[in-house]
Amino acid sequence: MYTVERKYLTTINWVCAKNGNVKLRCPARCVTNSNRSIKLSHRKHNHPSNLYQMHKSRTRP
Ligand SMILES: [Zn+2]
Repeated sequence: MYTVERKYLTTINWVCAKNGNVKLRCPARCVTNSNRSIKLSHRKHNHPSNLYQMHKSRTRP
C-alpha cells in the first residue's frame, strides 16, 4: 500500500501509506518508472502490514 509522494515527468515516488501515520512513520518507499519498472528502496516497512489489515478488518462488523 503506497501513496504518491512526488510526481516527476518520468517517475513517481511512492511512500508507504503508513508514512503519514504519526505513530508509525513508516520509511518504506519505492519509485516507479514510465516503463513500469519498480525500484524498491532499501528501507523496509516498520510494521506488519498483514497484521494491521487483519486488525483493521476485525474491528469492522
Ligand atoms: Zn509501511
